[in-house]
Amino acid sequence: MSAMKQTKKPFDLCPFCSGEIVEKEVEKLLRGGVDTAVAKVHADVCLHCGERLYSQETVRRFERIREK
Ligand SMILES: [Zn+2]
Repeated sequence: MSAMKQTKKPFDLCPFCSGEIVEKEVEKLLRGGVDTAVAKVHADVCLHCGERLYSQETVRRFERIREK
């Protein structure tokens, strides 16, 4: 029986350098016209190269915020 190993993380390892990834709360600056919003979001951050990986859900949130 194959166990369903469903992790909530979209990535286990960094797709760029295969480094270890940790989930962090990061601040993302969103510019929309004259307004700039700061959104606090969870992102998977590579400990090795610092790459931020956003989940689909988070990317959609950015888009919603930008529309405002
Ligand atoms: Zn990396």
